[in-house]
Amino acid sequence: MTAPLAPQYDPSQIEAPLYAWWRERRLFEPEAVQRARGGAPGEPYVIQMPPPNVTAELHTGHGLNNTVQDVLIRFERMRGRRALWVPGTDHAGIATQNVVERLLAKEGLTRFDLGRDAFVERVWEYVHATGARILEQLQAIGCSADWSRTYFTLDEDLSRAVREVFVQLYEKGLVYRGHYIINWCPRCLTALSNEEAEKEEEDGRLWHFRYPLAEGDGHLTIATTRPETMLGDTAVAVHPEDERYRHLIGKQLRLPLVDRLIPVVADEAVDPAFGSGAVKVTPAHDPTDFEIGRRHKLPSVDVMTPEARMSLAVPARFQGLDRFEARKRVSKELEELGLQEMVESHRHAVGHCYRCDTVIEPRLSEQWFVKMDPLARPALARYRDGTIRFIPERRGDDYERWLDGIRDWCISRQLWWGHRIPVWYCESERCARISVSRTDLTACPACGGAVRQDEDVLDTWFSSWLVPFTSLGWPEKTDDLATYYPGHTLVSSPDIIFFWVSRMIMSGLQFMGEPPYTRIYLHGVVRDTQHRKMSKSLGNGIDPLEVVERYGADALRYSLISGMSVGTDVILDPNDLDSSFTPARNFANKLWNAGRFILSNLEGPTRPLAGRARNVVRRQELTLADRWIIARCEATVREATEAYERFRLNEAAGAVYRFIWSDLADWYIEQIKPRLYGDTPGGDVARAVAVQTFDVALRMLHPVMPFITETLWRRFPGRPADASISVAPWPLADKRAEDPEALRDFGLVQEVVGAIRAIRAEYGVQPGQPVRAVVTRIETGDGAIRREQATVTRLAKVSELSFGEPQDRVGGHAVLSDGTAVFVPLGDAIDVERECGRLGAELARLAQLVEAQEKKLANQQFVSRAPADVVQREREKAATWREQRDVLGRKRELLGCGSA
Ligand SMILES: [Zn+2]
Ligand SMILES: [Zn+2]
Repeated sequence: MTAPLAPQYDPSQIEAPLYAWWRERRLFEPEAVQRARGGAPGEPYVIQMPPPNVTAELHTGHGLNNTVQDVLIRFERMRGRRALWVPGTDHAGIATQNVVERLLAKEGLTRFDLGRDAFVERVWEYVHATGARILEQLQAIGCSADWSRTYFTLDEDLSRAVREVFVQLYEKGLVYRGHYIINWCPRCLTALSNEEAEKEEEDGRLWHFRYPLAEGDGHLTIATTRPETMLGDTAVAVHPEDERYRHLIGKQLRLPLVDRLIPVVADEAVDPAFGSGAVKVTPAHDPTDFEIGRRHKLPSVDVMTPEARMSLAVPARFQGLDRFEARKRVSKELEELGLQEMVESHRHAVGHCYRCDTVIEPRLSEQWFVKMDPLARPALARYRDGTIRFIPERRGDDYERWLDGIRDWCISRQLWWGHRIPVWYCESERCARISVSRTDLTACPACGGAVRQDEDVLDTWFSSWLVPFTSLGWPEKTDDLATYYPGHTLVSSPDIIFFWVSRMIMSGLQFMGEPPYTRIYLHGVVRDTQHRKMSKSLGNGIDPLEVVERYGADALRYSLISGMSVGTDVILDPNDLDSSFTPARNFANKLWNAGRFILSNLEGPTRPLAGRARNVVRRQELTLADRWIIARCEATVREATEAYERFRLNEAAGAVYRFIWSDLADWYIEQIKPRLYGDTPGGDVARAVAVQTFDVALRMLHPVMPFITETLWRRFPGRPADASISVAPWPLADKRAEDPEALRDFGLVQEVVGAIRAIRAEYGVQPGQPVRAVVTRIETGDGAIRREQATVTRLAKVSELSFGEPQDRVGGHAVLSDGTAVFVPLGDAIDVERECGRLGAELARLAQLVEAQEKKLANQQFVSRAPADVVQREREKAATWREQRDVLGRKRELLGCGSA
């Protein structure tokens, strides 16, 4: 492990072995911190990982979601808490069944050819062969979940818990079976919950049809977006107060095409302002119509098969037609009969299956439901009393609105892959007992006769809404459950707030009496440069594992975290990985080189910076640069810690980045080189300060870039062989290290160096060429620049730094933020004549541009005819060129060039 550091940073060489070493040392278990540090066990800190589908492949969404969780877990672990991140996978009923059905289809088979048992066997084979690969992929990006606690939602113990929940809810009257309109996917052939039927706005049409009165002349006009369902109409409804139709209530209409007599009924649910104010009633195919049908005891005519073809309940010529085909046919025939009054375009929301995107068919069906209102009320109360909080806060509104208007949850699915519903029906017609049981039944408990189990399985989310306690052993009273429930933070993308986040709160309150977490951090999603969500179907995704291979897991993580502020999306370019990940990779290189430099210069004496040792470094021995870097380090600890605590992970990463890149690598390490090399005394102090501040920097960065920080940290002299940064203490802010004077004074030195460097660059002074510099006016920190003359001369390549009035007239000039002024004589540093020539040529070019542009803008024809924004752009161009021209003119004056 502790071979010398490679000269080049190569993540592919360090990451995998390091991860194996962490696991072998069981550093991801919550007890790891106490094992490493001794003392009392810390307070627990628990995050439940949103369980990925067992057949999923890692995408950037998982990458972002899990990196955020890992950052929080690693941060709290270092803070001494018993950090537990519980991983698992979801059996994902519909999704997984769909995948295996597609594989069967390639063999020309359907699940029905195999039969239930053989099909389920086949899914298990598939899951065992491919499943949980995503967990290995999460390991490749450094996730420190406690893999010894990994669950699968179809595991035996979790399945037992699911059954226990079903039985308990049934016994409390919160689970019931009912005949209702549900969302039906004609492709997946199953019921779906309201949340699974995703509403999408679409441009549809609204057909207006005439239904003739059975007696006499006249008709009623109804409007519909789904003409094919008219074949199942059993009434037309009007509002009871609607004067236009009052006289028709109770009369009969003749339903066209079907030739069935249907009544006109009065119902409060009808909106008199919609369409004609009269609505067709199809109780078997619409939730509102279903309710109207119930109130008026109307028959239900189911006009479709499960595949959404027209059923035997419609006239023969329509039977077997696909619903959309039937839609055209109905409209055409009514038009021919002169009963189609008009067709208008109509934008409306249409439900789509969230797994296969097929248009949902509202369908009357016998299903199992959870009564949600009694579960939602406490979940709402705990939000309103401030126990449960969302980050960002505005997301709480969505939660509140959904819970407020919650509808019962359809939990039965007509699938084969999942938890089978624990309900048995007695086969004897006389008994017909329905038994809900924790154990499998072979005989009816009432009559001893034969029973058959409900064919359906439970919604996948009916197991995942329980994982905060079932993953810890519930319903057994385990130690894990006592210690790690309730947890703390939930990290999710906003798209599963209803499916999962809110339901877990309800189940936690119902079965454990406490919500499973009180902080819900909802991060954005990963989008491409056109702001489209990355997705397989759009082909605009980035494979996180390819990023790991090319740039390293640390670069992937840093890019995701630094690109995300609270509540905003992460933008990455799938067509140009370099632009997205090179900055992070460069940062890792910079860190690697800084680490190698410090580690290779630790030969020779060093002394402790703090503590009781006799040779401890005294404050008077610290140079201004030492005091400055210690103060900067302390300020960064404060800033980063607070940012991590407040879920502002990008701010934390940014603060540590600036500290490492600029403060440590660009300034401090450069400043201490003479001491480290023994050119000036105090090498032991410089080494001590460098080691301490670099150690703190690595610890602050560890949650975001775990691999490179561990690799460097473990190389420090005196580190025990088994020490790991992942359980090292989080650096604490120390008031005594605050030093505003050092920050101000060294800041001024930096500004002087920066100003001289800028002048050198501006006038094209060769990098190796020394210049003289004069501080012509000093405003603050009088002593600082004088005392740090050596720093200024070395870092700005100055041969001589003087104070007072300059003897020269030719040179560059700068004023610092406090008013201090610096002059760099250039007469002997550059070829003034040549520079004057160069500037003169440039000046002439700009003058021409300005002149031409002014002519253009003086042209009334152009100004009046061109679009305003074009004219505006041209004006801005002219202004920019004028400004550049003036700057050049001043520069030439300073060089004493004479007229161009
Ligand atoms: Zn579907
Ligand atoms: Zn029975």
